[in-house]
Amino acid sequence: MYQNTLEFAKQKDEQDELKSYRNRFHHPIINGKPTVYFTGNSLGLQPKAAKQYINVELEDWAQWGVEGHFHGRNPWFSYHELLSEKMAKVVGAKPLETVVMGSLSTNVHLLMVSFYRPEGKRTKIICEAKAFPSDQYILETHVSHHNLNPDSEIIEISPRKGEELINEEDILKAIEETGEELALVMIGGVNYYTGQLFDMKTIAEAGHKVGAKVGFDLAHAAGNINLHLHDWNVDFAAWCTYKYLNSGPGGVSGIFIHECHATNKGLVRFGGWWGQDKETRFLMEKGFDPIPTAEGWQHSNAPVMLMAPLNASLDLFEEAGMEAIGKKRDDLTGYLEFIINDIKSEKVDFELITPTDKTKRGAQLSIAAKGQGKKLFDTLTQRNVIADWREPNVIRIAPAPLYNSYEDCWKFGQILRESIQ
Ligand SMILES: *Cc1c(COP(=O)(O)O)cnc(C)c1O
Repeated sequence: MYQNTLEFAKQKDEQDELKSYRNRFHHPIINGKPTVYFTGNSLGLQPKAAKQYINVELEDWAQWGVEGHFHGRNPWFSYHELLSEKMAKVVGAKPLETVVMGSLSTNVHLLMVSFYRPEGKRTKIICEAKAFPSDQYILETHVSHHNLNPDSEIIEISPRKGEELINEEDILKAIEETGEELALVMIGGVNYYTGQLFDMKTIAEAGHKVGAKVGFDLAHAAGNINLHLHDWNVDFAAWCTYKYLNSGPGGVSGIFIHECHATNKGLVRFGGWWGQDKETRFLMEKGFDPIPTAEGWQHSNAPVMLMAPLNASLDLFEEAGMEAIGKKRDDLTGYLEFIINDIKSEKVDFELITPTDKTKRGAQLSIAAKGQGKKLFDTLTQRNVIADWREPNVIRIAPAPLYNSYEDCWKFGQILRESIQ
């Protein structure tokens, strides 16, 4: 079906429904030459509109000073509300279940305050082995904070011997076996290293069956995977927005709290004034009375300058729609996989470790560089492929459906072939 030719790639681009979006992003020029930018899973490209969105806020700040909180074109007092509905669509949530706030690692801690409540026998956490380091540290230090021992409380599910991917059966089996000792399942929805996508609905179901809570770090899933967090009955989730959601370096994070918890004002949490009921927030009185939505987990007033570029990006997602984005993601990633396998058939010294099944991955492909190692990655970089290296031997590439083209995939193949020779 696919062909490894420039002509074929150009024809695919011509037929691409989302082709017009490529030009709505700034594409880096490095050493005077265009790049093949495959690192949308690390830092998404800048939407051209981001500057205007930020400028509106700079202008309103200049004109209004503090009065911009109420008189600005997008009053800062409620700026985060502009984003909730758009974000909810991206992750398959009800607007009351999401809010944009803070940063990812901090938010996971805050959510664990509410959803990891070790008590009696129920103290254990199940996570995936080789989780993103921040998640490992979060779980470890959070367990220690409860005066428990991370070595005995955290159960890591590893790939079977000789395999790269985690067998989901092993996660489900561990959940069942841990049973009433299990407090929390906390997994990366898409594993950052292999690109493996987990079946969140089934994992949530299994966790609930034994009475545990189930949360996901969706850093590599938000804006990439077609998520249905509400329908899947996920308890909570958090993600950053600077990867597939293109909000810029250090961009603000998003959280999801299922309706059944978000509306529960009695649920334990760490409070801040921006989570306080809007009617009484400015009375500045004692007595925390949280907003009965995900907003009730907010601490601080909206970081407007970080939210403006996210708003610009979310408007593109809104316009294109996750459905069309998902369709292109699968076809584009499939094409890149085809190209890589075509080159591999000439010279086998690397291997794709990402699942071959489209329903088990998103836009990312991870290449185990084997004998070539970091040298191959460095050569690719010298030839203006912007990819991502992870120790010990993985090159991660992610064609982002909004701004990458089939021609990018073909070009990558040409450069990969040259770099190996
Ligand atoms: C990128 C990423 C992070 C980054 O966390 P920050 O708090 O935004 O620095 C955390 N977890 C996962 C799984 C990630 O992929």
